[in-house]
Amino acid sequence: MALELVTKGKAFIYNGMKSKVYFSDLKATTKRNLFKKLEELLEKVKIKSRIKPHRPVAIKLHFGERGNTAFIRPIFLRVIVDKVKEYKGLPFLTDTTTLYKGSRSEAVTHLTTAILNGFDYSVVGAPLIIADGIYGNTFVRVKINQRIYKEVSIAAEIDHADSLISVAHYKCHELSGFGGTLKNIGMGCAAKDGKLSQHSNLSPKVNSELCIGCGDCVAWCPGAAISLKNKKAVFNSEKCIGCGECPTICQRGAIDLQWDENMADFQKKMVEYTYGVLKEKREKTIFINFITQVSPECDCYPFADVPIVADIGILASTDPVAIDQASTDLVNQQPGNSLSKLKSGLEPGGDKLRGLFPEVDWTIQLQYAQKLGLGQRDYELIKI
Ligand code: SF4
Ligand code: SF4
Repeated sequence: MALELVTKGKAFIYNGMKSKVYFSDLKATTKRNLFKKLEELLEKVKIKSRIKPHRPVAIKLHFGERGNTAFIRPIFLRVIVDKVKEYKGLPFLTDTTTLYKGSRSEAVTHLTTAILNGFDYSVVGAPLIIADGIYGNTFVRVKINQRIYKEVSIAAEIDHADSLISVAHYKCHELSGFGGTLKNIGMGCAAKDGKLSQHSNLSPKVNSELCIGCGDCVAWCPGAAISLKNKKAVFNSEKCIGCGECPTICQRGAIDLQWDENMADFQKKMVEYTYGVLKEKREKTIFINFITQVSPECDCYPFADVPIVADIGILASTDPVAIDQASTDLVNQQPGNSLSKLKSGLEPGGDKLRGLFPEVDWTIQLQYAQKLGLGQRDYELIKI
């Protein structure tokens, strides 16, 4: 018998047993294809008990930046939508506007991008709603009284929904090591104000010996914080919104982020936001991770590079910490793809995330989420 979550007041309390994480690999047959296996996963986490008839169910995912190809295929969302409808819930697919300029920085282009990426009603069977309004400033302030934040700004329509199904594409991330459930919720359900606050401690620096003055970072920077002076990039820290993207854009490796104790706070802020989103919904949530096309960068970039490992499968749980820990363990157990950007940790068991981002301690988000009582890192992996 594994862990069952019980709630007492606002605290999340565990009975000392491991959390259950259900796992489907990608093996399929005529009688049991991946749609069928995804349905089975939803039943394992008792989806019926997590939604109320005739009440809105937010299905939170990343629609993918235009040009990205690693996001979850829309046809899988249809399976989740159909299951919610079977139990009389009112499903809608949702995401929030981005901090950076791109194809999803306000609701109109975001919805257009989502439809162009295949998330059309005719495919997914549910409407799309951008949860923080046209410009990302429609939010609800939720009191959390944690170490960093006393209140957080949660996208209004996610807060208003009765239930939440998080559907995360597990991939690597330059600031948090990986992006899974905690990031899909903590960053992905924050309004623009909240995203800005979470990124506020990040500050890039340029190595002028490596900079060739190509201007790629100047053209990309969403804060217009970079300019060229004497054919070298220079930063305006007051304009920098801390998106952390310029190191990835610079092909010369001339830009780095200043990794210090403030960087750990990025993950902790994200986790406190997760706490705020889940505060009133803990027993009305389901978490799903797709470990497919594990790209070295997140789905916010307009491209997806060679995956670092082979596709692994789909996980479902009611514990947001356990599912991210289990997903990371499954990724690290694989042999790394030598054709990808992975520099070290390619052997089975090697730390793939450190192999990509040596300075990032990805365990911080899991440790802190456990400390806040969002779940636990100890899990039982149950293969279906
Ligand atoms: S992208 Fe890199 S090389 Fe080009 S200007 Fe910016 S810092 Fe310099
Ligand atoms: S982190 Fe880099 S790309 Fe992002 S806003 Fe700051 S300077 Fe611009």
